[in-house]
Amino acid sequence: MSRAYSGIRESRPYTYNDLGGHSLPIAEDYTKKCLKNADRSFTQGLQCQQINSITALISLESSVFIVHSPQGCAGCVSMAADGYRVGQAHRGVRLVKSPRVIVTNLDQNDIILGGEKKLREAISLAVERYAPKLVFVFTSCASGIIGDDVDAITRDLQKDHGALLVPIHCDGFKSKICASGFDAAFIAIQKYILPREKQPKQKGLVNLFAPTSISYKDQLEIERMLGLLGVEVNYIPFYSSLEKIRRIPSAEASTSICKVFADEFMKDLEEDYGIPFAHTVMPIGVRNTDKWFLGIAKILGKEKEAREYVQKEHDRVLPQLADIKKRLQGKRVFICGGTGRSFAAAALIDDFGMKLVGLETPTYDLDAQIDIEYLNGIHRDYVVDVANMQPFEQVNLVNRLKPDVFIGVPAWSARFGIPTTHVLDPKRATMGYDGILYLGNKIANQVENPGFNKKLSAYARLPYRQSWYESDAFKFIKTCEE
Ligand code: SF4
Repeated sequence: MSRAYSGIRESRPYTYNDLGGHSLPIAEDYTKKCLKNADRSFTQGLQCQQINSITALISLESSVFIVHSPQGCAGCVSMAADGYRVGQAHRGVRLVKSPRVIVTNLDQNDIILGGEKKLREAISLAVERYAPKLVFVFTSCASGIIGDDVDAITRDLQKDHGALLVPIHCDGFKSKICASGFDAAFIAIQKYILPREKQPKQKGLVNLFAPTSISYKDQLEIERMLGLLGVEVNYIPFYSSLEKIRRIPSAEASTSICKVFADEFMKDLEEDYGIPFAHTVMPIGVRNTDKWFLGIAKILGKEKEAREYVQKEHDRVLPQLADIKKRLQGKRVFICGGTGRSFAAAALIDDFGMKLVGLETPTYDLDAQIDIEYLNGIHRDYVVDVANMQPFEQVNLVNRLKPDVFIGVPAWSARFGIPTTHVLDPKRATMGYDGILYLGNKIANQVENPGFNKKLSAYARLPYRQSWYESDAFKFIKTCEE
């Protein structure tokens, strides 16, 4: 391993987690390297990086996932487990399985006396009960604070077990950026599973990195598109296996479905195994689908074929957007989402003639800057809230900006009675050229049918005082100089 990336996204230069303002001055300050580091003097709960590590790997075949933590840390796993079960059903699996997740349930005694005994027992029982090929052990704030030596335990037990034991260091307190959890998972794959030596290359094999939230429809579409370039897709780590992971170094090229997924890992693969990669955007919307497809085609030397295909798809799909545009033209949109999808959605709405008024995203870095510069050319000045969760800021902004539609997790904004929808759909087609038509119709249908949210607003109240709505949404974001 040549490059030493810590797996903590904050360690990358010019990365910001706490930021609020308008897109034009933010982009300008970033260019001049004048954006100041800041922190929130008040914050609500953040999404933890541990769940991203677990979610990234949860659909791997023949695997057990041991979460070395108090029970509550694994609470969010139910959502990932549901996605995995539905994903199997969509992929034609008749006997749908639940993921094998075990929590060591660290309690007060373990915090004082150490939890290593529980972890040893959990690993041995998991191997005995499920006979897996892979056992992942996820660390937590608690195991990190008490200093349980998870690496030493897995190393020690590895002698006695056939299953490969893989510790993943994803203690929540290490990073405020939940995408660091993806990096922790890939660092572990690199360290514990991949061979050290370079492997003979397999012509046409391409690593496609994607999280489990990718729908089967999207998987098929991406596979079809890459097939046009004569590519065999090696899916990692979604619905993948130990054998497929071991093929990673033989690939001719790599790409990812999301801008913040495996981006650092692909840099390592290039350095360690000479695998070039395309790091572009999420293929949602016309601009992003073009950019994503042409990006990987360029790496493979197939740009000409890709351009011909893109032109054909434009000729087919763009006329069909006219009807959707009539329904959505000029509608004002607030978008909230993970880094990859929020920027993809902001580019997508331009296909329908909609206008961005607010964008909430977890991180601002060089990749975000590239997207914001593009978006500033279309939507001009809009509000940017760089926040991992923080619904109190979101409701303040939505109340102030009064968008015609909200795109993102609707739990809070729906209570204003405005139409809400999302572009993260693990069950349907959202990517590629047909995905544009599906998402356009979905957004238009929501805009035209706001009845449910209107009723909700009459009965469900948000827990904030009027004085908060009259305050500056970013009043708790303090730069280091304040
Ligand atoms: S690892 Fe830490 S931040 Fe993550 S859920 Fe557990 S206690 Fe919370």
